[in-house]
Amino acid sequence: MNADTHPLPARRCLLRGALTSATALGAGLTVGAAPATAAPRPRHRPATPAQALRALAAGNARWRAFREEHPDETRAVRQELVAGQHPFAVVLGCIDSRVPPELVFDQGLGDLMTVRSAGEVLDEAVLGSVAYGVLELGIPLVLVLGHQSCGAVRATVEADESGEHLPGHIQYIADRIRPVIDRTRTGEARVDATIDANVRLVRDLVAAEPDLAARVRAGELAVVGARYELTDQRVHRVA
Ligand SMILES: [Zn+2]
Repeated sequence: MNADTHPLPARRCLLRGALTSATALGAGLTVGAAPATAAPRPRHRPATPAQALRALAAGNARWRAFREEHPDETRAVRQELVAGQHPFAVVLGCIDSRVPPELVFDQGLGDLMTVRSAGEVLDEAVLGSVAYGVLELGIPLVLVLGHQSCGAVRATVEADESGEHLPGHIQYIADRIRPVIDRTRTGEARVDATIDANVRLVRDLVAAEPDLAARVRAGELAVVGARYELTDQRVHRVA
């Protein structure tokens, strides 16, 4: 739809070397230093898309019930993570202060790679960050996380209706979301439906990246759209 969300010309350079060795996958940011022995895998690590989804669902259930475990914050974990990281999910979410992924999924250090932009919109840096997690760290799940009452989506809808040009670089955000504004509805229903449509758009754009699409076809990766409800703190899948 626009040049900014299309394939990354510098990707090969970014990832060069890391994909030549299976052992490099999972070695995290220490790829360049390449220790002879990989860091010990911390605790239980979800290794498949289904396991990763279950771990996020379980964490969100703890969050909703005020039964958080606050995992992976101990001194031992902090020391263990010096040697490398094995996060099991990329969460691409909005900047909204009410939806921090580590909190709403009750996860700790080394568990999630989080990428956040207003309205979880894509640009080259966001897409490259997601690709880094998947291709270099071997992460099996990308969760695109929208949320109830998203200010970025609301601003986009309101600016579209009023014809206002948003200040600074906010218009860039709105330009990414505008194509999926739900014009079959009005008012709050329009904002709400556009939140879901935007999740689907971002999910589909991420999943269409050729290197990621190959992993999806191989069953090694799932790219899933989801939404967080401020009202009851539930994360549910956006079909
Ligand atoms: Zn938002």
